[in-house]
Amino acid sequence: MTGVEALVRWRHPGRGLLGPDEFVPLAERTGLVRELTRVVLGSALRQARVWREAGLDLPVSVNLSARDLLDLDLPRTVAALLERHALPADRLELELTESVILADPMRARAVLGRLDAMGVTIAIDDFGSGYSSLAYLKRLPVSAIKIDRSFVMNMERDDNDAVIVRSTVELGRNLGLRVVAEGVETVAVWNRLAELRCDQAQGHLLSPPVAAAELTRWLAERARPAAPRPPAAASAPDARERRAARSVRAVGPAARR
Ligand code: MN
Repeated sequence: MTGVEALVRWRHPGRGLLGPDEFVPLAERTGLVRELTRVVLGSALRQARVWREAGLDLPVSVNLSARDLLDLDLPRTVAALLERHALPADRLELELTESVILADPMRARAVLGRLDAMGVTIAIDDFGSGYSSLAYLKRLPVSAIKIDRSFVMNMERDDNDAVIVRSTVELGRNLGLRVVAEGVETVAVWNRLAELRCDQAQGHLLSPPVAAAELTRWLAERARPAAPRPPAAASAPDARERRAARSVRAVGPAARR
């Protein structure tokens, strides 16, 4: 277990539990998304602090929207929140999609450069799904790429998807980037990723999105030696593969997407 991603949900009094697709685009159109990102960053870091005090040193990932990267105050906001929760900057990872960078590459570079200088890590989310220029991988301070779930989910059935996943893992490795596979739902896919020496995996095989308290219980159960082994670890046939696949990102609560 190497970290958690904050995913936002809205418990609407009348309409029940709303997923991000139902309100994040609206927040982006109306400009409220910056405030939303601040709320998510704040709650994710507050939770990271709670876990840290309980002896769980879990980095948290938070998704950014295109508008956030146009905000030259973002690095200052992030610094203030890290300080408030007494967390080292490298415990926070910010995820952005390719489209976010392409919206205003110059400004994105300025904002990301300052975040990187603070020690915050930057990951490219949904990698391969957007209109991408690979040039930003060398120009921007990116530490990780997250392969879009659409390629990972079908890699057992679709040869083209399998080639894309394998090539992306290699690309990341050759550029010195950590590679995360999103959307891992089966042991077969997990094992295939381990063979490819993909660094990390996340998805429903590990855990569906859960609230923070539930994740705390889940972590405690896994930490107990007597607890049943997770399917993935139990099926990894040898130590080398297990080591390759050792890193697992479960998906946490609190925040967005
Ligand atoms: Mn993400």
